This record gives sequence, structure tokens and C-alpha cells, in this order.
Amino acid sequence: MSESTRDEGCLFCRIVAGQVPSEKVYEDGELYAFKDVNPKAAVHVLIVPKRHYADVAELAAADPQLLGRMVLKAQDIADQAFHGAYRLIFNTGRDAGQSVFHVHAHVLTGEVMDE
Ligand code: 5GP
Ligand code: ZN
Repeated sequence: MSESTRDEGCLFCRIVAGQVPSEKVYEDGELYAFKDVNPKAAVHVLIVPKRHYADVAELAAADPQLLGRMVLKAQDIADQAFHGAYRLIFNTGRDAGQSVFHVHAHVLTGEVMDE
């Protein structure tokens, strides 16, 4: 991967590169999915694009098709884990709870959730 697509200080770039261990759920040329280390549901998976974008709006502006692929991958994960029901969260901005500034979809599934 070229320098322009990786941020050396970014935790999720390092996970994608295999420099930090993770429990892989799915991988293809563009996407990587892995279990959240601090799960908030029975199944809590993070889906990230391999290319670095800071947040979901940056990704949507640069590559909306890839954002669509992330949503469909979330659906796949939930189809396998919990008859297709899931919660999909993109925390965006520090004050909304974003702590890693490499866009990631939280896929929460595997159990009935409160409204
Ligand atoms: P955010 O708060 O940015 O929306 O979500 C970051 C998520 O990354 C959190 O749910 C947190 O538990 C998870 N996380 C932070 N560090 C690691 C790590 O090293 N490995 C894994 N698998 N998840 C991490
Ligand atoms: Zn990154």
C-alpha cells in the first residue's frame, strides 16, 4: 500500500497492516473487519476501509461506493450472526465519541437490543 493511503500513527492502519493483532472477521482488497476489543453487544464488529479516511463524511465524499460496500458487509455479518438485524454506528467527531480517526462502522448484533 502506498504512503498516501496509510497514516503511520493511526491504530486502525496498523491493524489493517497486521502490525497490531486483531481478530479478523472478513477481509478483501478494500475492507477489513475485526472484533471490537471492548464489545458492547454479543457480536460487535468494526468494519474499516483499508485506505485511511478520518471519518464517514470524508469517506462519503471521496468514495461513496466504498461506503455502500461497508453497509452491505454489515448486512452480511448480521445475516450470519442474527437473522439480519443489526445496529450500525459511525461515531463522528470527538464529542460524539469518536476516539479513532480512521473511519469505522460499528456493527452491533447477535442479541435483541433496546430501542
Ligand atoms: P470509536 O470510539 O472511535 O467510535 O470506536 C473505537 C473502537 O475501537 C472502540 O469501540 C474500541 O473498543 C475499539 N478499539 C480500540 N482499540 C482497539 C484495538 O486495539 N483493537 C480492537 N480490536 N478494537 C479497538
Ligand atoms: Zn488509518
